[in-house]
Amino acid sequence: MQKKVQFTGIVLRNLDYLDSAQIIYVLTKDNIESILVRGAKKIESKTRPLSQIITKISGLRTESKTFSTLTEGVVLNNYNEIKEDFIKTQAVMCILEKVYNLYPNISNTEILYNFLEDVLGMIEKTKYPKSLLLLFEVKLWYLLGINPNFTSCVECGNHLENGVLNVNCGGFLCQNCSTLFDVDLNVNESTILKYLYYIKMEKIDEHFLELVEPFYNQITHIVDKYYTKHLDFYNKSKEVFYKVI
Ligand SMILES: [Zn+2]
Repeated sequence: MQKKVQFTGIVLRNLDYLDSAQIIYVLTKDNIESILVRGAKKIESKTRPLSQIITKISGLRTESKTFSTLTEGVVLNNYNEIKEDFIKTQAVMCILEKVYNLYPNISNTEILYNFLEDVLGMIEKTKYPKSLLLLFEVKLWYLLGINPNFTSCVECGNHLENGVLNVNCGGFLCQNCSTLFDVDLNVNESTILKYLYYIKMEKIDEHFLELVEPFYNQITHIVDKYYTKHLDFYNKSKEVFYKVI
């Protein structure tokens, strides 16, 4: 008999496969599993809810070197409050695209999984999904091993209380050195970026997210620039997001 493996995870994407099946990509605490779900495209099928993007599922899959197949499964969280809100859904699509594509650069999958689950839980409840998208993107740098220098000037090395961000230099510049380079964010915007990077997850509340939101438009494009410059990554879902918000 074929060995079966238990798994729990979040569906990041799905691809149509043959007539009525889909292949789903599920982030678990160990890796991203690709699993064949038979009947997933049939409207009445019991497996259809299990193959939807932004869904936490648990189940059994066959163990196979080539293709693993779902044999049974259950939905643990549908994230309906996200799916019923267009902006929240689009924000999460940007997040899932980053997780799927940048996953190979992340060494600790369990931290990534817990982080994603925490952020999805917060997006369900918040009035400020754009702030949470920004928070996710900035905090993901840490898991990607990208550590912008926020504490000393990247040019002269002087200790900084407040600096201004220069993406190409990979961190903050002091007031003196900032006259020598192009500056990507002003002092206030740079300070918000620093808060987003350092704030502990348990400290994040609606008040903090409300404070971040007015800075969203300035900071988001610079965060994109950071991903392009330091990770060679371009977010297609974000292009869509900018058109709909
Ligand atoms: Zn300096």
